[in-house]
Amino acid sequence: MRERRLVVVSNRLPIVLERQKAGKWNIGPGAGGLITALGPVLRNRGGLWIGWLGTPSEKLADFSGLDELLQRGAEETGYALSPVHLSTEEVQNFYFGFSNQILWPLFHDFPTRCNFDPAYWQAYEWVNRKFARAIVDNTTEEDFVWVHDYQLILAGSELMKLGRKRHTGFFLHIPFPPLDVFINLPWRFAILDALMQYDLIGFQTERDRLNFIACVRALTRGVRVLGKGHVCKLVVPGREARVGSFPISIDFKEFAGLSASLETAEQAKTIRDNLPNRKLIFGVDRLDYTKGIPNRLNALVNALERYPDLRRRITLIQVIVPSREVIEEYGRIKKEIERMIGEINGRYTEVGWTPITYIFGSLSRPELVSYYQACEIALITPLKDGMNLVAKEYCASKIHEDGALILSEFAGAAASLHHGALLVNPYDIEGVADAIHQAYIMNPNERRKRMRGLRRTIRGNDVYRWVASFLEAGLAEDMRQFPLMELFVPRRRQDFLPKQSPKRVLRADQNRLVPLPRSAQPGKNAVVFKSKFVSS
Ligand code: UDP
Repeated sequence: MRERRLVVVSNRLPIVLERQKAGKWNIGPGAGGLITALGPVLRNRGGLWIGWLGTPSEKLADFSGLDELLQRGAEETGYALSPVHLSTEEVQNFYFGFSNQILWPLFHDFPTRCNFDPAYWQAYEWVNRKFARAIVDNTTEEDFVWVHDYQLILAGSELMKLGRKRHTGFFLHIPFPPLDVFINLPWRFAILDALMQYDLIGFQTERDRLNFIACVRALTRGVRVLGKGHVCKLVVPGREARVGSFPISIDFKEFAGLSASLETAEQAKTIRDNLPNRKLIFGVDRLDYTKGIPNRLNALVNALERYPDLRRRITLIQVIVPSREVIEEYGRIKKEIERMIGEINGRYTEVGWTPITYIFGSLSRPELVSYYQACEIALITPLKDGMNLVAKEYCASKIHEDGALILSEFAGAAASLHHGALLVNPYDIEGVADAIHQAYIMNPNERRKRMRGLRRTIRGNDVYRWVASFLEAGLAEDMRQFPLMELFVPRRRQDFLPKQSPKRVLRADQNRLVPLPRSAQPGKNAVVFKSKFVSS
């Protein structure tokens, strides 16, 4: 395989630009799993990252030292940075408008929260065209261009319109909705067609991938699906693309390592000492209606009513990270959540005990890991979530295996963590309340056993493996590099036992089926098989 330069394209560049008090601008590295995971690959492949600086262009108009600052940023990150400049109005209509008031709610199954303003669509097309131009200006036909997320779905088709051929991949970090939800989108054909312009389209879970294929089948003539693996080929007249599922993950070692530090242990102890003689339940979410926070609070009330022994014995620490407050609806949800928390605390608080400790703000990573370590139960109940990294981070940070994970079955993470988590339907108030009680009374051996399994799964499927599997799929020369892999849902005990079929084998360490390498299958040419991602 020839080495190609990797070019990452995302809404935001992996750096933070800040204006200091004296009017001087400063640049610093951004944080987050994606940045950490892509960094080494970008550095090894002489890579480039294209994205918006996060500051509207008007504010940078009188700043002449931007190139120099970006050069400094590139030296720090180890790869080149290329900015796409967006005005305040563009950000308003493209980002807060089409991306976050149309695609975000629709793809999370909330069509009634969409504001299908045609002006938003125009801005979305326009800004995606700007990104396509930046790709053309900064890449060659040899490069592999990896575009990220729902803000940039049209970048690939805009690239085609500019008449430029590139090897492209696209990864959708949020869910892909079922047909009867997707069909509400006034621009449904354009969006599907745009996705089909990428050579590889990646989704978080099998469910998302199958939803996408169902939409293409229903809304496009002459579709053929070739292959049965986690990567298949979709052929429509004049175009073909690979479609795969690649569940994103975290840097397991980073979280486990941070959790093992003395500082974390001390901070965790401080948290515990301040809230003694009870089990701590942790909820941490960006402010968003998809996170199901009001439902969760209702479940807590239900638990306190139906299991009075929980009173004084549990405290929910709920962190809400400010997000998209420019959008009116987000301001309303904040008010609603705060009203509910006030009411619950007003009703149940006793001397020395308050049921909810509420933090509105962002925690640093070391602080977050201290909370993960201090809390016996994580309560993660989104109504819908692409993956939910917090669920994985909580487990990775539980180095003493002393935590229980309550997880919504509608989070992408449930596909791989279902065996160890207490899975709940977040709309089922009594079901979530029962899970809180079950986690509270769970005996330490069971808790440890479940957490050990969860940690093993996440350790074996970290974010580096995610990057590698996507790039392997993007750079693979032909479909023979993707072995057949049947969707397998174990129902009975004997389903877990290895079958006679030479195509499948049980990996005891990961408790999941992976195909044998083709070289081991009868009558097949030997092809080295590296990608092993399996979604349930
Ligand atoms: N996070 C953080 N500080 C906080 C709360 C969350 O840095 O106070 C990080 C957290 O570590 C995780 C991310 O924000 O990596 C949230 O990702 P997730 O997939 O759970 O949800 P999203 O916000 O992307 O919908």
